[in-house]
Order: sequence, then C-alpha cells, then structure tokens
Amino acid sequence: MDKFDKLASLSSDMETEADGEQECHLVIGGQQLPQIPIAEVAMPGGKKMKVLKTMLTSACERNCNYCVFRAGRKMHRQTFKPEELAKTFLAVYEAGAVEGLFLSSGIIKGGVRTQDRLLDTADILRNKLGYRGYLHLKVMPGSERDQVRRAMQLGSRISVNLEAANPGRLPSLAPMKQFTEELLAPLKWSQEIRKTEEPRGSWNGRWASTITQFVVGPSGESDLELLSTSEYLYKQLGLSRTYYSGFVPIADTPLEGHAPEDPIREHRLYQSSFLLRDYGFGLEDMPFDQSGKLPLNKDPKTAWAEQNLLHTPIELNTASREQLLMVPGIGVQGAMTILKARRRHRIASLDDLRQLGIVTTRMKPYVLVNGRQPNFQLGLFDLPPPRSRTGPRAFQG
Ligand code: SF4
Repeated sequence: MDKFDKLASLSSDMETEADGEQECHLVIGGQQLPQIPIAEVAMPGGKKMKVLKTMLTSACERNCNYCVFRAGRKMHRQTFKPEELAKTFLAVYEAGAVEGLFLSSGIIKGGVRTQDRLLDTADILRNKLGYRGYLHLKVMPGSERDQVRRAMQLGSRISVNLEAANPGRLPSLAPMKQFTEELLAPLKWSQEIRKTEEPRGSWNGRWASTITQFVVGPSGESDLELLSTSEYLYKQLGLSRTYYSGFVPIADTPLEGHAPEDPIREHRLYQSSFLLRDYGFGLEDMPFDQSGKLPLNKDPKTAWAEQNLLHTPIELNTASREQLLMVPGIGVQGAMTILKARRRHRIASLDDLRQLGIVTTRMKPYVLVNGRQPNFQLGLFDLPPPRSRTGPRAFQG
C-alpha cells in the first residue's frame, strides 16, 4: 500500500479529541493524494491549529472495551516504520496542509517497546528532518521514566490517558491497564521532571506540557469522581488540561450496547474543569447533587452564584480578582479589564463596563455598582433561598 494511503487509513480510524475535522485534498510531486482527515485543535489562548492525528500502528495487544483498535476486533490493521511515518508526515506538513502532528500508537510487544518506536519517530522528525512544528506525543501505558523525559524533550505536549476517574472504575473500561502503576506514574514523573530538572536536550528549551483524557459514561463514575481527580491533576501534578471524551459505542466491542453519553454532561465537565483550573474554584464549590452529579440544565458557575451571590451580591468597585472571577459573565480577561479600569476611576454603572467591551447581562443579579444593584429581569433567574455558608467563598458585598 502507498504510504499516503496508509496515512489516510490510519488517520481515518483514529478517534478524535478535536474540535472539528476537515478533509484535505493534496497534490504532492504531481501525485493526487487520498483524502486525509485533518483535525482542528484548540490551543491555549483559543487559537485553532490544523493537526494530523495518526498512529504508528493500528494493531494492539490490549483489549480496552471502548476502543476500535482492541485486540481481536476484526478490522484492517496498518503499521508504519518510524522513519517512513516521519517522512510521510513531513511531506504533508511541507505541503501546507497541517501545522502539527498528534502521534499515538496501538501497543505491540509492550508499552516500553512501543514507546521506543514513538520516540524514534519523534527523534527522526526533530533531529534528522529538522521539524520545528507542534508535536503531541502519546505516552504508552507502562512507559519508563526515562522515556517520559525523552518524550518531554521532543514533544510540544505529551499525554497519558487515565481513561477512568480512579482505579476502581478502570477495569470495566480497560481490563489490562493498571491505573496507578501504568497510567498515573508517568503523569507523576512528568511533574517531578518539570519541577526538578533543567530542560536540557529539549528541542525548544522547554519541557512539553502534559494532559490526560477520561472516557465519560460507561464505567458509571460520577462527576464528583471525575472532577476530584481533575483537581488533583491540576493542583498537584501540574497538568495543562484534562479532556472528557463522552462515550460513543463502537460496533463489535463489549460496550457496543451501552448508551452514548449525553454531550451536555461532557460540556458541564469542561466548564467545571476550567473553573477549577483558571477561576479559583475548589471542588467544594461545585454544585453537585447527593449522588455527585452536576446540574445539566445550567452551567456550574451560574448554579454556584445562585446559591452564593444572589442574596449577597459583590461590589464591582471593591471586589478582589478572586471574587470577580466567581461572577457569571466575568472571565479571566474581564476581571483584568475591571481591575485596570478601577485604577483610573470608580465604576459608575454597567455602561462603563460595556464601553470596555464586557457583556454585562449575566452578571446583573450578582453584582452591585456603587452600592446599587443593576436592574435585571427577575423572571430570567431562579431565586433559591440562601444557603448557609462558611469559609472563604461566603463573599460579602
Ligand atoms: S491500548 Fe489503546 S489502542 Fe489498544 S485497545 Fe486500549 S485504547 Fe485501544
């Protein structure tokens, strides 16, 4: 099979964590290439990047219950050699079709050997072919500490997918994976390396960032379990992001009869995850119900504000950055803009904020401006009774 056909086939088979997908029709050296799916991935800061997502091999000796590539499932398997894949990707990159590579693999002959082949591919790209673009390298379950370090030197980003919220949930998703020894250990090493070692030998003078992904739904985990692990990963292990992949059943897998996960749940998990990572929220602030579920009908920040700010709105002229970030409708940029504006003059009305480009509709029930609450339509907001509160989140206006 032609190397570009193989690339198109492997890339088409891959699951996508991307925000969108396009087909690319390329002509290289006069050859019309097969259609190759290109993922659009959101980068830190919101910029979108076109990335080729592919694998060294779609063969795998493991049997994850949700996975298209699980051992024994009937499908046509493809395998690249490291140099072949590096050169094939580079041709697509140099033709301008993509700006980066996401490189994964099925596992053959163990995680350590498979990781070596991924590292060989990355090494050829960076050090033999001079590639300086974005490279997201997967770290295989069971990889060794030195391999994690090398991946952090060669990649722009590395990822180890935890798949499940905790060790108790993993066997129903991935019976052959070991949560603590194979998945969590590489994440811990990446933080230890980042904290204690200089990024010598790294392609751009920095360590790669680290992320993970959960499969949401079929293991029966609660939102509390997922976000409790996410909080630990952000605050203790320095992860840049946690991804939540709502389960979609795949034919001819043990979970083919399981219902797909509600996309709204995935969305609420992302919103909550950003509150934990960027907005100063703690797990105790999340509006879980008795069974550890988030409300689906409203975003978690609004649910928190209805309980905590409706009866004690905060004063925009005196609120700290931390307090501003707890208000629905005020993001990281908005809080900074308000703090800067306050250094010049008092905020007289919400018009002042609108002139600074801040949309004020959502914040109205939760703020005071010069001691007065802006008008808002009561019918648009529920007014639950105030919750008794203690601790740092009980803001007073
Ligand atoms: S190890 Fe990876 S490729 Fe193999 S079955 Fe599990 S998720 Fe799929």
